[in-house]
Amino acid sequence: MPIDATAPYDDSNIFAKILRGEIPNKTVYEDEFALAFHDINPQAPVHVLVIPKGRYVSWDDFTRDAPDGELAGFIRAVGHVARELGLPAPGYRLLANIGQHGHQEVPHLHVHLFGGRQMGMMLPR
Ligand code: 5GP
Repeated sequence: MPIDATAPYDDSNIFAKILRGEIPNKTVYEDEFALAFHDINPQAPVHVLVIPKGRYVSWDDFTRDAPDGELAGFIRAVGHVARELGLPAPGYRLLANIGQHGHQEVPHLHVHLFGGRQMGMMLPR
């Protein structure tokens, strides 16, 4: 079920549990701003999720409320992970789902990194 991206942050969400170490993950990268790990249900040969360490529901509250340092740190981490995975040369796709129409299912901001194959058209018609 897609979530309401305007709801308050819920500390019981699955990515909050991953950040607290309560649920295992296959970590790709971690720094003070971000954690990157393999998606449990990959949609492409490379499917990595990058999440901020802070308590943000979506891109909406993140871009409204996060201090500049957290914004920059997170965005740089996303780019760093893509480079570490060798994605820039062949190309890749970044995706952030937000709320109901975006079909966001986990209420902690995450950016999907897809790579390893031709991604095709941007959206299904
Ligand atoms: P959304 O639709 O919210 O943008 O995507 C949520 C993503 O989180 C999905 O691709 C789903 O496979 C992934 N996911 C959900 N639960 C877990 C989990 O416990 N571990 C990992 N690694 N990924 C998860």
